[in-house]
Amino acid sequence: MSTIFSQIVEGEIPARIVYEDETTIAFLDANPLAPGHTLVIPKDEHERLNDVPEDVASDLYATIHRLVPAVEDAVDADASTVAFNNGDAAGQEVPHVHCHIIPRFEGDGGGPIHGVAGDPPELADDELDAIADDVESRA
Ligand code: 5GP
Repeated sequence: MSTIFSQIVEGEIPARIVYEDETTIAFLDANPLAPGHTLVIPKDEHERLNDVPEDVASDLYATIHRLVPAVEDAVDADASTVAFNNGDAAGQEVPHVHCHIIPRFEGDGGGPIHGVAGDPPELADDELDAIADDVESRA
C-alpha cells in the first residue's frame, strides 16, 4: 500500500504542486494551518527522517531552503515555522517523511515550537552531562 503522498507523486490523486524536481516535491497542505501551509517531501517513500538516504536528505534540505522564502513571500508572512513530525509519538500521521512550512504572522495567536512537547523535565547538571555524552558518542 503506497502512502497518500506517494499517490500525489504518481499523480493518482490531485494536489496543488508548487515545486518538483527529480527527487523531491512540494505541495499545499490539504488542511492548512495558515495560508500557504506547504509540505515538502522526498518522492521516494521513507517513513522517518533517518530512513532518508544522505543524498536525498541533501536534496530535501535544498528544496526546503528554496521553498521557505517562496512560501513566505507568496502570502506576505512575517516568519514561518518549519518542522517535521518525526514518528507516531510526535504526531506524524502520514508515514512518508514530510516537512511542514507553516507561514506565521505577527499576532496570529500561535506559539513557538517549544509548545509541542509535554511538561518540561527537571534535569540536574549530571543528568544533562550524561545525556550530552551519550548523544555525542552516537553522533
Ligand atoms: P503529519 O501529522 O503526518 O505531520 O501531517 C500530515 C499532513 O498531511 C496534515 O497536515 C494533513 O493536512 C496533510 N494531508 C493529509 N492528506 C493529504 C492529502 O491528501 N493532500 C494534501 N495536500 N495534504 C494532506
